[in-house]
Amino acid sequence: MPSPVSYTLKGKVGVITVDNPPVNALGHPVRAGLVAALDQGLADKQAEALVLIAAGRTFPSGADVREFGKPPIPPILFEVINRFDAATKPVVAALHGTALGGGLELAMGCNYRVAAPGARLGLPEIKLGLIPGAGGTQRLPRVIGIEPALGMILSGDPIPAAAAKQAGLIDAVIDGDLEAGAIAFAEGVVAQPLPRIRDRTDHLAKDDRAPLTAKRAELAKSAKHLVAPQRAVDAVEMVLDVPFDEALKREREMFLALVETPQSKAARHVFFADREAARVPGIPAETPTRTVKSAAVLGAGTMGGGITICFANAGIPVTVLEADAKALERGLAGIRKNYDSLVERGRMKPEERDARLGRIKGTLSFDDLAGADVIVEAVFEDMAIKKEVFSKLDTVAKPGAVLATNTSTLDVDEIAAVTKRPGDVLGLHFFSPAPIMRLLEVVRGKATAPEVMASGMSLGKTLGKTAVPVGVCFGFVGNRIMLRYALEAELLLEEGALPQDVDRVLREFGLPMGMFGMVDLAGVDVFYFIRQHEMKHRPKDAERLPRILDRIAQQKRYGQKTGAGFYRYEGRTALPDPAIEALIVEESKRLGINRRTISDDEILRRIVAAMVNEGARVLEENIAYRPSDIDVIYIHGFGFPAWRGGPMFHADLVGLPKILADVEEFHRRHGERWKPSSLLARLAAEGKSFASLQGR
Ligand code: NAD
Repeated sequence: MPSPVSYTLKGKVGVITVDNPPVNALGHPVRAGLVAALDQGLADKQAEALVLIAAGRTFPSGADVREFGKPPIPPILFEVINRFDAATKPVVAALHGTALGGGLELAMGCNYRVAAPGARLGLPEIKLGLIPGAGGTQRLPRVIGIEPALGMILSGDPIPAAAAKQAGLIDAVIDGDLEAGAIAFAEGVVAQPLPRIRDRTDHLAKDDRAPLTAKRAELAKSAKHLVAPQRAVDAVEMVLDVPFDEALKREREMFLALVETPQSKAARHVFFADREAARVPGIPAETPTRTVKSAAVLGAGTMGGGITICFANAGIPVTVLEADAKALERGLAGIRKNYDSLVERGRMKPEERDARLGRIKGTLSFDDLAGADVIVEAVFEDMAIKKEVFSKLDTVAKPGAVLATNTSTLDVDEIAAVTKRPGDVLGLHFFSPAPIMRLLEVVRGKATAPEVMASGMSLGKTLGKTAVPVGVCFGFVGNRIMLRYALEAELLLEEGALPQDVDRVLREFGLPMGMFGMVDLAGVDVFYFIRQHEMKHRPKDAERLPRILDRIAQQKRYGQKTGAGFYRYEGRTALPDPAIEALIVEESKRLGINRRTISDDEILRRIVAAMVNEGARVLEENIAYRPSDIDVIYIHGFGFPAWRGGPMFHADLVGLPKILADVEEFHRRHGERWKPSSLLARLAAEGKSFASLQGR
């Protein structure tokens, strides 16, 4: 195999070119090739300086993902960079595309860096629960200063070439041909003494620990659960008092230790899970999708208004239909208010708002929907109304239009069946607030055509969403699992816990909000409505449901919007309410339950086990295609901490036999709702994990 790295002498400058499509990842052949080409350049008597450049679309942006989790084959990147750092001729790294992670670390091992105007530079390791492990934490602060380096390392976000030039991270921005510019630059520095980042101290005021202390204090609040950010600060701190080579060694040890942490494993899992979610089993990636150049939305309420905004934001003209003039005016005013508030907060330019509003048209006539490529229905959650609306849509929508419902709980197949084109119908389940929440469940009905499903997934991407394919059942994947553990949370109240106990435990676990805080935010009435619906449809012999939520709703305590729900509110601050405690105690008494102290551990085990057992059922029934899809849904739609990798990944880490033992214990104590999922039981018995179902 020819090496992916070549060496060519061009005049007095030796050019080392990495050519490892698609993204010039720093896999083993590239690393070995770099060392060989460097040796060749250093030995080449005619070369007075060297340029390191990449072919194709980008400078290397980090490791080869295929090497993840495998033992590294030498030379490791750290050694390669040391070789460049020790070069006896000036080396100029020429960057284009994205110089990220190991790529930027390699560039910082060179004497000079130049970049194309569109290049972006960054150290994104933190996003995988890691720190840069090949000198990044030691070289970056030496080039741009401790505080800016902490900013880049802790955010993981790249900066554009112009900002990199201003910060001193690169020496020149090269307009025009990058290689020619880099060669010219190299020729200009041949006579200079060799600058090395390792020798620089100009940005390091002795004992200036203030930015480090400030960052630590900030992290204690914003990222208290996370290990990698703390390690990153520790690593950067070494620039003040640890000799360079020793610091590199320790940085690498810290990096290797982080690779083994559950948090980094979780982050890597989420990285792959996000990508995998885009694939729909049985529908090849090359399946043609229908072009969406125009859209329509039915209903301009909470969701319809938000979905309309999603289309307008993506540059797609959208017609929104309401039942009457008053509702339409209210809906459009809501949309306008949403944009105005962005402008007021300086998040959007007035011209941009006007452009987006210009894409939105209101109507009362179904005839105006005839031209839309996709129509999303978001009217009341009522089967009769949905059926009526879809029958009408069937008569006006153009052939080939994708017809979607945003229903949360209703049967997509039943809705599709009222049309003469059920193959064109699917669910597009947005989450509230639709313009902000990244999750989109793309619901595949029995009759949904593969092409329509593929179109729904692709539309999700166009709208900037993480689209996850799911099947039809009450609540689909996200809400179905949520309703299961919400029920468990409410039953815990009957047994002895209080809302603030359950919520505290969930927040400590890493959720941004507890269960009851979430119910209060979404609306107690919304949950009450769902429960009423459930009561109508559940079998006669089903287990009794708790009444606490019902009683709170009946008092019109709908949550934050009415100033009281499971909590009372001062502004947005939730405060425990003695009236609710009294109500809960009264319910326990009515049921003859002796209230007991429930430990935090039991609360967590009950919620997690309920989540995982229901997740396993959802998999068993093929409503979710992969355990990792449930994780993606929970991270992007329900605030499940990404650093825990999602509920199913978390279950694997805890160990399925342990989760199953919890489920079985609760089954004995609390009855049939805890019947263990057969999938969970089988995996636990076979010593397997959910991950084993994914073949990775
Ligand atoms: P909403 O009550 O805020 O809005 C519904 C809108 O539909 C109202 O403005 C109403 O005037 C309009 N409407 C009713 N009948 C109509 C008709 N025949 N033609 C045209 N417009 C009509 O309700 P929402 O919260 O926006 O929910 C809408 C749908 O989205 C429901 O199916 C709901 O289950 C689903 N959903 C809601 C949420 C949420 O958090 N609110 C999240 C995901 C999905």
